[in-house]
Amino acid sequence: MTPTFKHKKSLGQHFLKDKNIVRKIVELAELKEDDIVWEIGPGKGILTSELLKKNCEVNCFEIDQRLFPILKKKFSDQIKLYPEDILEIGWEKYFPSQKIKIVANLPYQITSPFLFKVVKNISHFQRIVVMIQKEVAERIKAKPRTKDYGILSLKMQFYFNVKYGFTVKSHLFSPPPKVDSAVIILSPKRNLPEIADENLFWQIVKTAFRNRRKMLRRNFRYLFSKQEIVNIEAASGISLTARAEELTETDFVKIYHSLFLKNVLVEHIHLIESTS
Ligand code: SAM
Repeated sequence: MTPTFKHKKSLGQHFLKDKNIVRKIVELAELKEDDIVWEIGPGKGILTSELLKKNCEVNCFEIDQRLFPILKKKFSDQIKLYPEDILEIGWEKYFPSQKIKIVANLPYQITSPFLFKVVKNISHFQRIVVMIQKEVAERIKAKPRTKDYGILSLKMQFYFNVKYGFTVKSHLFSPPPKVDSAVIILSPKRNLPEIADENLFWQIVKTAFRNRRKMLRRNFRYLFSKQEIVNIEAASGISLTARAEELTETDFVKIYHSLFLKNVLVEHIHLIESTS
């Protein structure tokens, strides 16, 4: 008799019970034979089994070594199993020459750092289908002028076409989490706006959202002088009496580009010196 497995809350171990949900997730990945898949956290392998049916190469990264005997017994050498913390390892040595699809029921607590790591390595990925907390999925897909819209929405929508797949009720997991989940599909965009200094761009976005209730004009005082703010407003054509949550990705790109126009930055010229 196998001893009962004690789920670790700290590792987000809420295992899927419903095979229909698993099939629906795999369908969204649009897998073709010979696709290379990364599954983060295979757990006991319910999703892994469905992935293998598609005859693709399945690479599993699992932090909890207690699950290895179960996974090895079930799949033997049908999968590549890496006993790793996906956030801690360098991904370079696992990158194949072809683009990867990620399919996973992600542990909740690693969602944002994991997705940011995907963004940093975006050229290696072709499709990401992940189950995450519903509330986070809503923030990722949120549009301007809504309460959910923020840096996470902007960042994800900047790099990906985002699609909300479907909602998964908490009772479909064992043990059930406190909140519902959702599956989202992220497809890397082909043509990104030209941003030479991405760090500066995201610094501007972060500063804009520093205090959501304040006008951009006020938040930008953390980065620019009063005169520079007047110049940015004139050069970008964006009213800085607006709040960050009213601005689209295109508006932020306009603000970023305005900094490089002549005489816009006078005191903080060093902000753009490295890229101009
Ligand atoms: N795929 C299984 C399923 O759907 O039933 C399990 C999903 S469960 C939500 C998350 C899994 O991720 C667990 O097996 C957990 O041990 C693993 N995990 C948690 N943190 C991890 C990390 N940093 N790196 C790799 N795996 C991790």
